[in-house]
Amino acid sequence: MSEHDTRAPILRIDNLSVEYDTDEGSFAALRGITLDVAPGEILGLVGESGCGKSTLGRSLLRLNDEAATTYRGSIHIDGTEVLELSDEALPSLRGSEIAMIFQDPLRSLNPVFTVGTQLKNAVRLGGITDQRAIHEESTSLLEQVGLDEPERRLQQYPHQLSGGQRQRVVIAIALAQKPKVLVADEPTTALDVTTQKQILALLRQLCIDLGMALIFVTHDLAVVWQLCDRVAVMYFGIVVEHGTVTDIFDQPTHPYTRGLLSAVPSLETDKSRPMATIERGRDDGQTVSWEDGSVRFERISDTHFARAVPAAPGTEGAAKL
Ligand code: ADP
Ligand code: MG
Repeated sequence: MSEHDTRAPILRIDNLSVEYDTDEGSFAALRGITLDVAPGEILGLVGESGCGKSTLGRSLLRLNDEAATTYRGSIHIDGTEVLELSDEALPSLRGSEIAMIFQDPLRSLNPVFTVGTQLKNAVRLGGITDQRAIHEESTSLLEQVGLDEPERRLQQYPHQLSGGQRQRVVIAIALAQKPKVLVADEPTTALDVTTQKQILALLRQLCIDLGMALIFVTHDLAVVWQLCDRVAVMYFGIVVEHGTVTDIFDQPTHPYTRGLLSAVPSLETDKSRPMATIERGRDDGQTVSWEDGSVRFERISDTHFARAVPAAPGTEGAAKL
């Protein structure tokens, strides 16, 4: 259990549902999501492609196309109800309360501006006005994310950097306004294994140093195991189980979680063991069907919760977990 578990949550998601309007009608991408994250804590969000991980990440910043999205429930960040914010108030939420980084750092960086222009812009948004102070803060942020020669980096364009260096720049920009919560949506998927490990170590250190809460979206169970304090397992827009990493890996309880972990050779907590990547269309757990996200959680321990499995037709009561 992490030392942060006793701290009051900085982010509380309560019974969140998100529907997209599509040409075929409304599509429930998230149903009944209830989760919280404490300062300094790292929550892993796992599940196969299409289960709603990115929708959840974007919803926390209201980054979905608002005209075609219906939100229900509640998202509280440090006392602010995100779902009630006006359009005018959203820019001050993004960056200073919560920031998000994506798989492809080029998507977040503008190719025609130098690193310095983009980073200094973010620092300015954080409220620093003096040019010299902006410059100093920018070099300090580049050092904080482990980039050497910060003065030179500020002059460079994104295409002059490696993928790992770009992702470090993106992280520096995300940190510029000192967000309380960072959402990282598969931020290392496009990187080679060595660089991936370095970025994960950097994110963990930043959470410890800054007390920032991190939501780490991934389909890679090995990354969850290495990085996260807690994990929420998602399936078709629902969190089916959540708990500490040890809870989930040692005692997977929901059939879908068990299916995911069945690819793992052993459930012993051996951190050196290679683990599976979640792929779309696995059969494990697919037989579990859901009416909606309102199926209650069973409490397995203080930290570990799993959805009850609805009874199969013709049987009485919930199936034994
Ligand atoms: P993940 O990140 O876990 O792969 P997503 O959140 O991207 O999942 O998608 C969840 C579901 O919502 C998928 O079925 C996807 O096709 C659908 N979806 C995502 N974005 C939109 C959108 N803008 N409009 C309609 N459906 C969407
Ligand atoms: Mg995604």
